[in-house]
Amino acid sequence: EKMQIMSAREEKILVLVRLRPLSEKEVEENEEADWECINDTTILYRESLREGSLFPSAYTFDRAFRGDCTTNQVYEEGVKQIALSVLNGINSSIFAYGQTSSGKTYTMNGVTEQTVAEIFDYIQNHEERAFVLKFSAIEIYNEAIRDLLSSDSTPLRLRDDPERGTIVEKVTEETLRGWNHFNELVSACQAQRQIGETSLNEKSSRSHQILRLIVESSAREFLGKDSSTTLIASVNFVDLAGTERASQISSAGTRLKEGCHINRSLLTLGTVIRKLSKGKIGHINYRDSKLTRILQPALGGNARTAIICTLSPARSHVEQTRNTLMFASCAK
Ligand code: ADP
Ligand code: MG
Repeated sequence: EKMQIMSAREEKILVLVRLRPLSEKEVEENEEADWECINDTTILYRESLREGSLFPSAYTFDRAFRGDCTTNQVYEEGVKQIALSVLNGINSSIFAYGQTSSGKTYTMNGVTEQTVAEIFDYIQNHEERAFVLKFSAIEIYNEAIRDLLSSDSTPLRLRDDPERGTIVEKVTEETLRGWNHFNELVSACQAQRQIGETSLNEKSSRSHQILRLIVESSAREFLGKDSSTTLIASVNFVDLAGTERASQISSAGTRLKEGCHINRSLLTLGTVIRKLSKGKIGHINYRDSKLTRILQPALGGNARTAIICTLSPARSHVEQTRNTLMFASCAK
């Protein structure tokens, strides 16, 4: 296999954490909120203020969003700059990382919608360029790739193209006709996405979802004359599977196997992110999982990355919250 040599990166990975509020149900159950954002970058474990606590008290990131921050704030202050670089021909990936019920889907749906809305807006105001937007949606479940825009559930295969890198063969790429069309496609994906029952959370999602927006543009004066001036790039919105351990999911058998596969993509992503964040030159193991193979062009080199780590403030989730913060600390 080819070695993947990365060049030194100037851009570091943007690491954001978002604390969700306690849910109504948690409040009813007298759940305690143990975590608090004490300023725009720092999250504090309240229990650590108690005497004799063994845990570190404060974690600092590029940005920390409190429970009462809106998704619009997360977009404006965390995601926008990276996602919109697609308009300049730069690939990017935006991840939501966290345990089930911490707010990954809530956050990712919001920032995806706002990015696409802003791109439509930009296109309307830049008539000197001609744009084509394409949209694809896939799910990775047990290391099998499924097209969320097709009713055919046959797993899709990956192929290495000498020029374009790793390609998802036969994936549906819809050319967007407008805002309503985009919303229809997103609804269709949501209906297709794997949902299974677990004891941890009935809506727990054990699959990774990648929504990809491809932006092609060229100056109208060169249209059809000089294709070398066409810019093409993609922005990837990645709603990761819940990061809780398979052992926490009590239903035996297939769930455990799923856990291993989820971990393969998550573990590989973790290693890739840690290497990229250190900016070292060397071998990066993109090829060890489907997720990282597909995202390779939108991760290393010139690409830009934001990771939104979503957190539950609840005392009963403290171990998972700490695991997520450890991951977030390694990524920055
Ligand atoms: P995940 O995708 O990580 O499993 P969800 O995004 O489904 O979690 O969120 C779990 C629940 O919490 C949902 O009902 C969602 O609406 C709610 N929620 C998540 N984040 C927030 C937030 N920042 N503010 C208000 N409600 C939230
Ligand atoms: Mg979800």
